Amino acid sequence: MLIRYFDHAATTAVKEEVLKEMLPYFSINYGNASSMYSLGRQSKKAIENAREQVANAIGCSPKEVYFTGCGSESDNLAIKGIAYANKSKGNHIITSKIEHPAILNTCKSLEKEGFVVTYLNVDENGIVSLEDLKNAITDKTILISIMFANNEIGTIQPIKEIGEIAKAKQIYFHTDAVQAVGNVKINVKKLGIDLLSMSAHKFYGPKGVGALYVREGIDFNKLQDGGHQEKNKRAGTENVAGIVGLGKAIELAYKNIDEYNKKLTDLRDYYISQVEDRIPEIKVNGDRNNRLPGNANISFKYIEGEALLLNLDMKGICASSGSACSTGSLNPSHVLVAIGLPHEIAHGALRITFGDENTKDDVDYLVDNLVEIVGRLRNM
Ligand SMILES: *Cc1c(COP(=O)(O)O)cnc(C)c1O
Repeated sequence: MLIRYFDHAATTAVKEEVLKEMLPYFSINYGNASSMYSLGRQSKKAIENAREQVANAIGCSPKEVYFTGCGSESDNLAIKGIAYANKSKGNHIITSKIEHPAILNTCKSLEKEGFVVTYLNVDENGIVSLEDLKNAITDKTILISIMFANNEIGTIQPIKEIGEIAKAKQIYFHTDAVQAVGNVKINVKKLGIDLLSMSAHKFYGPKGVGALYVREGIDFNKLQDGGHQEKNKRAGTENVAGIVGLGKAIELAYKNIDEYNKKLTDLRDYYISQVEDRIPEIKVNGDRNNRLPGNANISFKYIEGEALLLNLDMKGICASSGSACSTGSLNPSHVLVAIGLPHEIAHGALRITFGDENTKDDVDYLVDNLVEIVGRLRNM
């Protein structure tokens, strides 16, 4: 059966051009980037080239880019790294209730070590209030970490305004941009971002490689002891092929970003309007305007999301209820609860995230099947 993939927020396929760039670094140019001979220097050069590709994409200097093992590691390194390095200045961190578990669980773990964390509420569209943020700041606040775009409902936060608030109070501002990189234009300097996390597999690069941008001059602790790789901030022999893949993927993503955004926005809007026209008793979750181009999160009332997913899977359709991380748990998504959805509506949520290979024909196939499955499940 033909697979129709609508789960690009969970992961994406590696683009052929990306894979092609990566392949030599497994078995031909396999040198250790720390070695002195030319085989090693080739690897070092490839890593530095990728660092430039990342810097060009987000508007920073290559010196400000650190490669990591994934988005979760970038989040851990940012939050714990800043917290430990600034312990003497304060112990207060501000984040939001709708962050990815890589942020929420990192903050919870810091709470056990004596740090104090404020989890900001969001409004019914999933946006944090700038007033709430200002009011939460104390003289002990060392870090604000607010995600760029939400992985479940696609909501984009007022990043520039948050950056201004943080700067005025001399507090570091980190953003988990794992869903945003490759999907929206980002310039860390213009947006006042001090630290930013990304992960290659969310923008058609390989799994198991991420990056963290840290503004020059900001000190942060390393989390892992070992060698001196990544300016002594991330010990371990570099994943050269993965890093090359991340670099190529981010370069490709920003080459055609306007075209890509338009394509995904058109598919998403067509999907939402088709569902609105053909299926009664639905609710579109998240902000209608400030959202990722490819994200549509819709609750189908009186339906269990899990049942919907199983039925869609039988038709070759890959989608998600809420986030992949909470699938399999009986609790409704913390994000849908935070935007105030009653449990029964949160349970009927379906997250569709469009990507490069999707077509209008795919959307028609998806909606036809939804009409049939939702009708059938509601009659049971
Ligand atoms: C996927 C994701 C992560 C985790 O990235 P990994 O590379 O899978 O560890 C973190 N934050 C957000 C918002 C994500 O979507």
